[in-house]
Amino acid sequence: MIEFALSKKQHELKEALQSLGRHVIRPMSLDMDRNKEVPESFLRNFMMMSRGFRSDDIAEFSEGTPRKERDPSKPSEANRTAVIAAEELAWADAAIPLSMPGPGLGAPPVRATGTPEQKKRFLGMFRDMDTGPLKWGAYGLTEPGAGSDVAGIRTSCRKDGAHWVLNGRKCYITNGGRAVWTVIFATVDPSLGRAGHRAFVVEKGTPGFEVGKIEDKMGLRANETAELVLEDCRVPEENLLGGEEAYRSKEGFMTAMKTFDNTRPLVAAMAVGIGRAAYEYARDFVKQNYVLGRPIPRYAAIAEKLAKIGRRLEAARLLVHRATYLADMNIPNAKEASMSKAAAGQAATLACIDAIEICGAHGTLQAEHALLEKWFRDIKVYDIFEGTGNIQRVVISKRIVSNLKSF
Ligand SMILES: Cc1cc2nc3c(=O)[nH]c(=O)nc-3n(C[C@H](O)[C@H](O)[C@H](O)COP(=O)(O)OP(=O)(O)OC[C@H]3O[C@@H](n4cnc5c(N)ncnc54)[C@H](O)[C@@H]3O)c2cc1C
Repeated sequence: MIEFALSKKQHELKEALQSLGRHVIRPMSLDMDRNKEVPESFLRNFMMMSRGFRSDDIAEFSEGTPRKERDPSKPSEANRTAVIAAEELAWADAAIPLSMPGPGLGAPPVRATGTPEQKKRFLGMFRDMDTGPLKWGAYGLTEPGAGSDVAGIRTSCRKDGAHWVLNGRKCYITNGGRAVWTVIFATVDPSLGRAGHRAFVVEKGTPGFEVGKIEDKMGLRANETAELVLEDCRVPEENLLGGEEAYRSKEGFMTAMKTFDNTRPLVAAMAVGIGRAAYEYARDFVKQNYVLGRPIPRYAAIAEKLAKIGRRLEAARLLVHRATYLADMNIPNAKEASMSKAAAGQAATLACIDAIEICGAHGTLQAEHALLEKWFRDIKVYDIFEGTGNIQRVVISKRIVSNLKSF
């Protein structure tokens, strides 16, 4: 049975983030977009402040450290709590949850495949951020010639004594320029496909590991997206995730994919947050405005549009909660994670388009409705990264066809 009620702690977290979002983050949103950065002072304050309301679940999810007092009969709530926070932060500004200090997308592969020593070394270093310097981790899979076709990566790795030598180029890496380490996927032999993949933690400052260009994007402009270049980069063998044992089968590719089972619902929750922002904006606009002397909601076409946006967003959120419930129960959730991402990307994109339309000509005015325009730019990427909408539909259909009993 899926439990939809929020726990007391989750409820408090949601309320605290809603208040922070409304009163602090949203008023900075357009400036951050223009300046292409989230102020470090805000991030630092947030880390300090969140000590009070950051739940153990959030710490567990983002830092990869299991709660010490975990009652084995009580499943984790880490994934469910994380999506609640992700939706609220994205509602306020989508660049914020992506720019939060922490291991980020790099955490799931380290948690899924890292040895106990690697987990301690690479995830443990994020524990001191309340007082020490802010740190980010990153995830480097995509290459100029391999995005959706993950199996087609060409970044090479070759063993040389106690090191691996990496050569290649990674692109569109979230927080890639500032990351203290990045999980880099490479191949020992492209002809082996997935079986040839290896995942390495490559630390900033490793000779031969450089940051290339920082992308100038259409949306999410306050969040850094970087190119990473590896030229004869010598990585110590201790940084091969899971050690050589982990790659006897297709494990390398599975490491990349396991990441997505946890992060797709998270990204889907952010999409719901942006869509909800646009939806609420349009709702408030129609409540306050009149067309031809009549309140706008009296027009059936507008009422229907609002109802449709609300229904789609609500359905997407339920899919997000279902996918994270399964993840917290340790039940395979690849299909549900993809369903949540596919549904949320579409629902939120349509919400942003329809919100502009509902506001009529006003919706297209930059000065008056700059947030509507920003959300419209921000949302597009949610149907692209972490697997495009098309790829989600491929994953879903494969799972449905291979397990006809699943519905
Ligand atoms: C802001 C941003 C942040 C990102 N962050 C990261 C990151 O941190 N780490 C990382 O590794 N990557 C990251 N990415 C890369 C992202 O994951 C890829 O862009 C994405 O996987 C799509 O790959 P692609 O852009 O090469 O498109 P392509 O794979 O070339 O796809 C182009 C089009 O073809 C469609 N298509 C491709 N294959 C199929 C198929 N089999 N069936 C149907 N349609 C198909 C796609 O849906 C899409 O519409 C980021 C991208 C962006 C924009």
